Amino acid sequence: MSRSLTREIENSSHPGLGTGRDYALDKNFDPAAEESKWREYWRQHDIYHFDPHDKSRKMYSIDTPPPYPSGDFHVGNALNWCYIDFVARYKRMKGFNVHFPQGWDCHGLPTEVRVEQTFKIRKNDLPPDQFVEMCRKLTGEYIAKMKQSMNLLGISSDWALEYKTMDPSYYKLTQLSFIELFKSGHLYRGEHPVNWCPRDETAIAEAEVVYQERKGTLHYMRFGDANEGIEIASTRPELLAACVGIAVHPKDDKYKAIVGKAITVPIFGQQARVISDDEVDPRYGTGAVMICTFGDKTDVRWQKKYHLPIIKALTENGRLSVDDPRFKGLKAEEARKKIVAELQARGQLNKTEPITQNIGTCWRCQTPVEIIARPQWFMKTRDMTQKVVEWARKLDWIPPFSKQRLIDWAESLDWDWVISRQRIFATPIPVWYCTKCESTIIPDEKTLPVDPRKDKPPEEKCPKCGNPELRGETDVLDTWMDSSITAAVHAGWPNKSDVFNRLFPADLQPNGLDIVRTWDYYLLVRSLALFGIAPYKTLLINGMVKGTDGRMMHKSYGNYVVADEAIKKVGADAFRQWAASGGSTGYDIPFRWNELEHGKKFLTKLWNVTRFVLANTGEPLPPKKPSNLSLVDRWLLASLQKLTQEVSEAFEAFQFSTALEAIRNFTWHALADDYLEAIKHRLQPGRELSDLKATQYCLREALMTVCKLLAPICPHISEAIYHQFPSAVNKSVHKESWPEPEKALDDTSIRNGKLLLDLIAHARREKSVRGLSLGSNIKRLIVSTEAEHLHLLKENEETILRTLKADTMDLERLPSNSDQPKEPSAGFKVEIIA
Ligand SMILES: [Zn+2]
Ligand SMILES: [Zn+2]
Repeated sequence: MSRSLTREIENSSHPGLGTGRDYALDKNFDPAAEESKWREYWRQHDIYHFDPHDKSRKMYSIDTPPPYPSGDFHVGNALNWCYIDFVARYKRMKGFNVHFPQGWDCHGLPTEVRVEQTFKIRKNDLPPDQFVEMCRKLTGEYIAKMKQSMNLLGISSDWALEYKTMDPSYYKLTQLSFIELFKSGHLYRGEHPVNWCPRDETAIAEAEVVYQERKGTLHYMRFGDANEGIEIASTRPELLAACVGIAVHPKDDKYKAIVGKAITVPIFGQQARVISDDEVDPRYGTGAVMICTFGDKTDVRWQKKYHLPIIKALTENGRLSVDDPRFKGLKAEEARKKIVAELQARGQLNKTEPITQNIGTCWRCQTPVEIIARPQWFMKTRDMTQKVVEWARKLDWIPPFSKQRLIDWAESLDWDWVISRQRIFATPIPVWYCTKCESTIIPDEKTLPVDPRKDKPPEEKCPKCGNPELRGETDVLDTWMDSSITAAVHAGWPNKSDVFNRLFPADLQPNGLDIVRTWDYYLLVRSLALFGIAPYKTLLINGMVKGTDGRMMHKSYGNYVVADEAIKKVGADAFRQWAASGGSTGYDIPFRWNELEHGKKFLTKLWNVTRFVLANTGEPLPPKKPSNLSLVDRWLLASLQKLTQEVSEAFEAFQFSTALEAIRNFTWHALADDYLEAIKHRLQPGRELSDLKATQYCLREALMTVCKLLAPICPHISEAIYHQFPSAVNKSVHKESWPEPEKALDDTSIRNGKLLLDLIAHARREKSVRGLSLGSNIKRLIVSTEAEHLHLLKENEETILRTLKADTMDLERLPSNSDQPKEPSAGFKVEIIA
């Protein structure tokens, strides 16, 4: 766009043509003021209301992931929610009755740990009820904060559908799902080794173990006595107390003679039998390893395979529970130091060497996990692996590579899902036990929710043995047990009404790549077990956000940005553009301030173009397509059709960056640079009314279509501009129908219009090369071009002359060079006589 026009656009004053004064565009684009105004408008008009009784429209259901209320809505969350909102808004305009609920996954370790950290207490310092109350209160405060962030971002969820997993009305359904799964044989209780966080004193699932590289020390220890011994290297000498065997590789010649013998364990003195097993890595340490109950998953396998005893050397809070008073009660790390010193004193420590190891840590507190066996509840998920994989293959994954994540994860699981937790703030497990025969007693479904930690048992005595003493379960459920039934809960389960069938399975399951193996997996196994089908049809996966330093964004890296901070700086619509265009759907996306600024610049441009159009085209705007459209008009309308087609296809394929780039290109270049420059002369005094009407019609079409196409990504500015047009007053752009592109594109106008605009651009450059201002008059324009274009240029002579302010134009044939292949665009030679 020329400088002069840009200035004209920026300076044009617009009286708010034909619209309510409230909605007139201010001279300067102020995102904060503008956006809050429209959010209030949406709230007042209940624009995003979901109507369960509306049978005229098809439903589109989104199973929004309920976030942990941490109070902190980071840009990664914001990216996730932007994707959801793009789809929700697009689908609404496509005519769907969109079900976009928002819930909160309140229970569990994250909340408890946060309460412990905030108030500097441990869960057992207070009576449980008081601790739960603190959790509920803090959760409520955090929800309020995050809700505010979501609103600031312009998320269009229907808040009438809000739910909290800590509400009795919700967790009663979690309990109901437990009872149904128990009755159908998907659950069992047993004593099996599970991952355990000694800091949080609870079982955790395999999905909650995060592997981290840490430095350790390999200790070479002498086992046995003077007659018979073996050297073993281990990073965990504190587990000597739990050593129940020694393993060597069957082909390791140096140990052949010792296999089958019992060797004395240093310090603690128990006998450990030597076994040979293929799983031993003969290159690690000395090639002999100790089997402890339990050091790792291999120990768990060997203990079972070789029927080794179990020695529980660690308590649930990670302290040594041996009889030896020197070590009893020590934390694992302190015990290690003392045991190493003792080995040294006894001459049983041959050497040490540093080692880097990949160790499993708790996802919440980063404490190294232990493996501890105690009675737990499990869901039989390993039996379901094949079914999970089959379903995963049938579903739609965006991007497709994310499917393999789920399949690999399902196939890698060694253990069943441990669903009980030894915590407090969670859904109680709805069971009682007979203290005599240990049979399990479940309550009547009508009495849910129950809390066996304090409620009376559902029976007077054990139905099996008549024992009147029944004990309530004190363990609680894994929080994923709450959040993995959301899709069914949204649909109204257990009421399987007509609405249930229309909302379940959900059309869309949107979440981050990092939780495919938890969220998507748990949802799938729960739903397959409860309903026999997957709970979703399409999975929309977003990548992770990288900080400005190129590393993954993380609080500990100092590259962390809170979404509110960015939104307050550039506005929600600019932020949302970054979310759309920062990367292809599903891939990691870098956070860049200049991209947010670029988004804001685009909005300012669109704002100014609109003000220019409104100030210069006057009213009223013709509702019907005029018959005297010029080539540039037809070119603009055809380009608009092409844009509509591209953007629609991109939204259907969830390719938001393609959609946004097409819209921005059209607005910036086709509309502002090319079209406005070419028709500017029609807006001058003395213009012909019919010409003006054609221009008005085209500009109105272009701006209204751009608003509609942009509405899912930039909902605020689209609304503001849409309200400038008389036909749109009091109607939200978000209630509009998505523009449907015409079946056949007017390719001829696109091609010919482009040729004309190329010539105009070429001549303008020539003007500026000659030192002439763009607005100055010229006497004669001499244009040479290929023969086949001469006719077209002659036809559009008037547009060319007026746009370039030329008095006459001479057209000449460019000598054709038949040896050279023809260029797709025309070649011009332009001469100017001022
Ligand atoms: Zn932990
Ligand atoms: Zn009994």
